[in-house]
Amino acid sequence: MSWKLVIHGGSGSMKRGGLSAEADELGRAGLNAALDAGQAILAAGGSALDAVEAASRVLEEDPCFNAGRGSVLAYDGHVELDAAIMDGRDRRCGAVAGLKSTRAPISAARAVMEQSPHVLMSYEGADDFACEAGLEQVPNRWFVTAERRRQLDELLAQGANAFDADIKYGTIGAVAVDLDGHVAAATSTGGLTAKRWGRIGDSPLIGAGTYADDRAAAVSATGLGEVFIRAAAAHELCARVRMTGVGLQEALDGVLGEVKALGGNGGLIAVSPSGEAAWGFTTPGMYRGMAGPDGRCVAIYGEESER
Ligand code: ASP
Repeated sequence: MSWKLVIHGGSGSMKRGGLSAEADELGRAGLNAALDAGQAILAAGGSALDAVEAASRVLEEDPCFNAGRGSVLAYDGHVELDAAIMDGRDRRCGAVAGLKSTRAPISAARAVMEQSPHVLMSYEGADDFACEAGLEQVPNRWFVTAERRRQLDELLAQGANAFDADIKYGTIGAVAVDLDGHVAAATSTGGLTAKRWGRIGDSPLIGAGTYADDRAAAVSATGLGEVFIRAAAAHELCARVRMTGVGLQEALDGVLGEVKALGGNGGLIAVSPSGEAAWGFTTPGMYRGMAGPDGRCVAIYGEESER
């Protein structure tokens, strides 16, 4: 049995030459730092659950990505954060939606899983719960960066809404299998720029943007959340693996095809309990990285050959 970690930092319109050299470099550095954090746990025999939380926390702290600090802004200029985590051993899971002050949304999701009888908590109640669980609270403006403010202003000036932007879906996610063959998945996001406040996407919905089941795979999604919800994308991928016997990559490609047929775009990452890994996206690029005992790779653009 060997460990594996796969992460994403969102799919979108990134093309070689379209990103500045600095943005390219910062994106790759962020992905590598997240792989470092998860790898340290997995290589030492730690759990997939701990690894996906640790990798996600690094990406949440990195303003390059649309999760935690650096999240996109809702229509009203605030940040509202969604996250979910799931343990493939027993399909225990926890999720939060609409957080406004909890610094580490993925850890809030884990607290819901481990310290409450619930699966999904939202808005003030979820922030209050996270605070009671000892998680750091920050003012909402702490999450806001000048670049995200500019993106919102630009979109609003164009009279556009969350669905017609040339979007980079910068959500972050991590999936892992540990040395014991258990899988786990985590996803964290600020959602879509100019989303209607109160809107909840696929990321915190178990089975849509996040799913983990030791009988099949661990999955995290990025993309137009509304369509991933309609496709029940993450669960659909696991169901295909478990019930049709197709390989992980084939199942992933099939689900992405369905998302596209429904009018959506985005990407998926997945690992299986036997250590197989897969990713795919319908957009020009996806921030992504993979690590295992044999080494690692990170990539952004579609044409990079990585595996
Ligand atoms: N899937 C996320 C959402 O719809 C957005 C993203 O992937 O960036 O909230």
